[in-house]
Amino acid sequence: MIYLDNSATTRPFDSVIAAVSGNMAGNFGNASSLHKMGINAEKVLKDAKNVLLDKLGLDGEILFTSGATESSCTALLGLPGTHRHGGNGIVTTTFEHPSVAKPIERLENDGYNVVRVSPKGIADYEQRIIDAVNEKTLLVSVMWVNNETGFVIDTARVYKAVKRENPHTIVHVDAVQGFCKLPAKQLKADLISLSAHKIHGPKGIGALYYSKNMRFDPLIIGGGQQKDLRSGTEPVDLIAGFAEAVRSYPDCTEKYAALNDKLVSLLGELDDVVINSYGNAKNILNFSVCGVRSEIMLHFLEEREIYVSSGSACSKGKTSGVLGEFGVSDKDADSAIRVSMSPFTTESDIDALAEGIADGIKRFRR
Ligand code: PLP
Repeated sequence: MIYLDNSATTRPFDSVIAAVSGNMAGNFGNASSLHKMGINAEKVLKDAKNVLLDKLGLDGEILFTSGATESSCTALLGLPGTHRHGGNGIVTTTFEHPSVAKPIERLENDGYNVVRVSPKGIADYEQRIIDAVNEKTLLVSVMWVNNETGFVIDTARVYKAVKRENPHTIVHVDAVQGFCKLPAKQLKADLISLSAHKIHGPKGIGALYYSKNMRFDPLIIGGGQQKDLRSGTEPVDLIAGFAEAVRSYPDCTEKYAALNDKLVSLLGELDDVVINSYGNAKNILNFSVCGVRSEIMLHFLEEREIYVSSGSACSKGKTSGVLGEFGVSDKDADSAIRVSMSPFTTESDIDALAEGIADGIKRFRR
């Protein structure tokens, strides 16, 4: 099996499976209990927070959530109630994941003034985001790495410039696709959404990083766990697995660059394959095999046990609007394939994929 759909989700590391099952078997206390078992469970939470903050290279706090969707909903919907500096402006991109786009749509319906900056033309995209900020901007929300194209925003640059323009503006970053894959120095924000299952951790666990002094209303209320910001017994086993995934994710910078170069060069030998990827997240490559619909190619590759995605995993069967934002025509978007690699990906996986695409073209080209 050749799994090249790692932007959708990843195979858990063996060390993660061991950490989750080890914790379930030997450390099942409730982190709120006052006895030793509770204290042991609480220690897992504290250690995991430190592992995450260390990897982020940031001072601040970690709120554990059920995943990045909950993290972003908490950040975006919980913010307006606590930050009233007079601004009602929101600046974001035209290519956010729905977990950010939808809560922002809701805020827009509630009267917030939303500016969505398009990447069309691309040159100095960060500057265009920065230029959209003014004294009325409450929030800037941008994704670090686009899940469909690999387009990267230097969020550290955006953060610094936004704070210069308006120190009251809060910056939120969906860092799901960049975390552990790109250098943390490109990441800076007041609020950061993270997900474990994109980095070989368990599904159903994520985190919201928030800087000290950040305030937001909880999305989930009840027993007051996690400083009353997210009630519910903490899923200590999943949290142990999340921390283990962060610890275990190797530096793949050179590996991804080499595999990406190889794939681009093999695809370059085929007729009518166009590359749709932008920016430099080398673990993601999006391309169109002109004349062969994505789903046809996807299922053809599946017969060889090669798993890729058509556009985004979240836009099942639909032509991706995000690709259009990056200047990809509807026709090319209809035949787009997204390959996303992992530390397990090998050169021979890439050879097998390129061979599969070449055979698919021979079989299906209209
Ligand atoms: N943000 C991005 C960029 C994603 O790719 C995804 C998952 O597809 C999410 C957010 C949602 O993450 P989760 O599945 O943890 O809710």
